[in-house]
Amino acid sequence: MIEKNEEYILEIVAQGYEGEGIAKVEGYPIFIQGALIGECVRAKITKVKKSYAYGRIEEIIDISKDREEPKCTNYKRCGGCSIQHMNYKKQLDFKWDRVKDCVSKIGGLSKDIVNYPLGMDSKPYRYRNKVQLPIGKVNGEIVIGFYAPRSHNIIDLNVCLIQDKVADNVANLTKKWIKKNNIEPFTLDGEFNPKGILRHIMIRRGFKTGEVMVVLVATTEKVPYIEEFKEIILENIEGVKSIILNVNPNNTNVILGEKCITLYGDDTIQDYIGDFKFNISPLSFFQINPIQTEVLYNKALEYAGLTGNETVFDAYCGAGTITLFLSQKSKKVYGVELIEQAIINAKDNLKENNVDNVEFFVGKSEEIIPKLIEDNIKADVIVVDPPRKGCDIKLLEAIGKVKPLRIVYVSCDPSTLARDLKILENQGYQTVEIQPVDMFPQTSHVECVVKLQRKL
Ligand code: SAH
Repeated sequence: MIEKNEEYILEIVAQGYEGEGIAKVEGYPIFIQGALIGECVRAKITKVKKSYAYGRIEEIIDISKDREEPKCTNYKRCGGCSIQHMNYKKQLDFKWDRVKDCVSKIGGLSKDIVNYPLGMDSKPYRYRNKVQLPIGKVNGEIVIGFYAPRSHNIIDLNVCLIQDKVADNVANLTKKWIKKNNIEPFTLDGEFNPKGILRHIMIRRGFKTGEVMVVLVATTEKVPYIEEFKEIILENIEGVKSIILNVNPNNTNVILGEKCITLYGDDTIQDYIGDFKFNISPLSFFQINPIQTEVLYNKALEYAGLTGNETVFDAYCGAGTITLFLSQKSKKVYGVELIEQAIINAKDNLKENNVDNVEFFVGKSEEIIPKLIEDNIKADVIVVDPPRKGCDIKLLEAIGKVKPLRIVYVSCDPSTLARDLKILENQGYQTVEIQPVDMFPQTSHVECVVKLQRKL
């Protein structure tokens, strides 16, 4: 019997999907954050449930050769980089195993079709081009940082090693400005009793252009000392092209509200992926690791196997980034995306890049694509890049009807990917190859791009 608050000497026999170590006592699993497979640890049990428990490392007795001392001083408190204690090779091995596990257990497919992850050639730090940091108050002190794991407690961060340095600087300047002027951060004092006005600070930086966007998210348009905020940012931060006040009065966890007021400069910043130039607004989805995005998109383009004569559907197209990549080598591409603002950006991006063989639609892929099929538009290749919950079954069924030669599936969740691959296999497709790409080093997230081919 495992008991709460007791200490046990445990062998780590497996690695969980979020990178946690798993020990087993007579088959009963104990999850231990920060422990590596092969290690022996002394752990204190923090939570006991019917079919599993959680423990905390007190001492590592046998240390894995794959362990690396986390570079970040906030590693233990912050919920962000849950696998920073693995060296980079081990991180890639871990992601590889995770994909193989999902593909075989959930998808019923062979592990042999999963390639080794493509990791970052440069240092796997400072890669994020966008950060959204909550602003709060802890023990009367203003804090800006990240949420602690599984909580709404904000950890104050002066430095975050996976975000662009400019974000550290903007966050620290913002904190000083709030303290000096005594402005209240937004808190939910009980469920229905919101107080304060400042919610988040968001920073975006174009990787190739160096253009910086600073977005202050507040509950109201009337933020005191906002002129001073603008001046502080402009005086101290290089490359600022846009300062925006985003108004979000809602009592939700959603970070951004719908209304954006441009306080300085342009409504958007620009950046490149490959040779394409993109306009990025506060609300647009744009991949956050620009170096690895090119790796991912080039792989998607390779898997699409285009010769210039094909009609392509790009479902879940966001601001049309993959769409533009595909347009280089196809006759016509149809992009479909749920968020209207993203499609407004996508159309802008078409103009910006003088591309004329793309058409965009706003709506659900599972509704628009069946309509395109009804209108007798035949796709030779379909690309899907859904959010974590994967593709809607209606979309997969529609794909089964139109029977394109190839499908390229870009996924940010190996579990839902594996589920969908199984469905597509049953609809006459063969999963040829799965390529994980490490878009989010130091975290347990795994991105994959998959090539499927119609069985003859
Ligand atoms: N392919 C893009 C965006 C991928 S993120 C890129 O690489 O940048 C997934 C996108 O799917 C988001 O933009 C989200 O708004 C959109 N989305 C979510 N559900 C959708 C649905 N049912 N139909 C169409 N788009 C959807």
